Amino acid sequence: MRSFRAQLAIRFTGAMFVAVALVSVASLLAMRTILDRELDASILNVASIQAGSLTEGPGAEMQFHEWQLTPEEADSVQDLIQYAVVWDADGTRLLRSRYLTGDLPLDREALVRASAGELAWREQEFEEFEIRSLYYPLQRLGAAHQGHVLQVAAPLGPRDEMLARLMLFFGALSVAVTLASYGGGWWLAGRVVRPVHEVIDQAEEIGAGSLDRRIQVWGDTREYHRLVEVLNKMLRRIHRSFEAQNRFTADASHELRSPLTVLRGEIEIALRKSRSAEEYRAVLESNLEEILRLSRVTDDLLTLARADAGALTGDGVETDVEGLFGQVLGRFERRAEAASVRIDFHAQSDPVRIDGALLGQVLWNLLDNALRHSPAGSTVEVETWTDATDFGLEVRDRGPGLGDNVERVFDRFFRVDAVRTPGPRSEGGPAGTGLGLSIVEAIVRALGGSVSARNRDGGGAVFRVRVPVTKVEPVALS
Ligand code: ADP
Repeated sequence: MRSFRAQLAIRFTGAMFVAVALVSVASLLAMRTILDRELDASILNVASIQAGSLTEGPGAEMQFHEWQLTPEEADSVQDLIQYAVVWDADGTRLLRSRYLTGDLPLDREALVRASAGELAWREQEFEEFEIRSLYYPLQRLGAAHQGHVLQVAAPLGPRDEMLARLMLFFGALSVAVTLASYGGGWWLAGRVVRPVHEVIDQAEEIGAGSLDRRIQVWGDTREYHRLVEVLNKMLRRIHRSFEAQNRFTADASHELRSPLTVLRGEIEIALRKSRSAEEYRAVLESNLEEILRLSRVTDDLLTLARADAGALTGDGVETDVEGLFGQVLGRFERRAEAASVRIDFHAQSDPVRIDGALLGQVLWNLLDNALRHSPAGSTVEVETWTDATDFGLEVRDRGPGLGDNVERVFDRFFRVDAVRTPGPRSEGGPAGTGLGLSIVEAIVRALGGSVSARNRDGGGAVFRVRVPVTKVEPVALS
């Protein structure tokens, strides 16, 4: 793969070469036209002078007014005045410039046209070089010259030589410009890509152990600033999630180790001497409690791991949310009764397409928390609704509320109980793991919705969930 720098330099050079080549060709064409026009103008000029000075010599002979040229004058004008011949209409030479040693080549067709009174131009060969001839009708001088034609010519050599010299100049210019643009392009491209190399070098040095490092801005252009800014933002995000993952792993191991330590201690003490059947039973019961706690933590961790891996996709099937929630509430009946807490259920939702199992788990976790924190004699309210796009659920209780922890209750392993005195335990089972609300949040996110928590006026907590759903249209009976 070619480097960006080389590509840039090559393309720049190519563009410059094409530009110079186009300008050269255009200039050459323009120059050729100008030279041709000037040559024609001089030939016509000489022809009219020669025609004007044709005089009848002694013996009624025609003759050119031949200039006597000094050597200096001859250099520039001789070429123009020496090629002159006068023909009569049938192609017989009547007169020839004294500087000419032989006749100019005669073009019959041009002669015919000129003797009829028209100007005629031709390019011809003469003594192995090219000339441009003008056939000039002499009939305008008077009846004596009826049918006579003056042929005046000039060699094309000087014009071609001039063009060849110009071509050489443009060729050299193209080579010089090409070389200069490659050098310039290479230098410029080097400056352009240097900040990229700087960023690459810095990024390469950042590893798992140095995620807190940031890339220094290099180069003063807006694009590079933005690139570095975006990269740093990404680094910050990676760093944050890396730290969160580390914390999560540490918390998880701690959470799994505590019950194991308790189990080990209890079993070791029990085994120190032989004990009565009641004593063993008491130890086993306590062991069972720890084991239940362990399985709850592992279940929760598994759910979160699946959510993190994107495995909680939530297949939408037609679900009667009211019936589903009725079942979940039924399973809390005994517990609510024992705690003297009333559960009020206001359902106002149509059947929707949603993953019922995941939604059931959301209600379960919220209700479990609400009951755990509700004082005896209070009421937990559960309300559901559907609107054009969303399914909504709200769980309200009259417990102690969330205080200042509203922002943090969805964090993994966060427990208000760790700050406060522990609340009553769920169904006689182990205390909360601090993962219940994180699971709610992970599920709701997987379903494409959102969950929020707030303190309730007059005490208590409110959890509100919104999940986008497609409603199931009732089948029209006709
Ligand atoms: P846990 O499984 O320990 O209950 P959660 O993630 O469900 O963990 O809850 C996090 C923290 O928020 C817990 O310490 C819990 O006490 C507190 N919390 C949750 N729901 C409520 C509520 N309805 N009222 C007061 N505190 C609550």
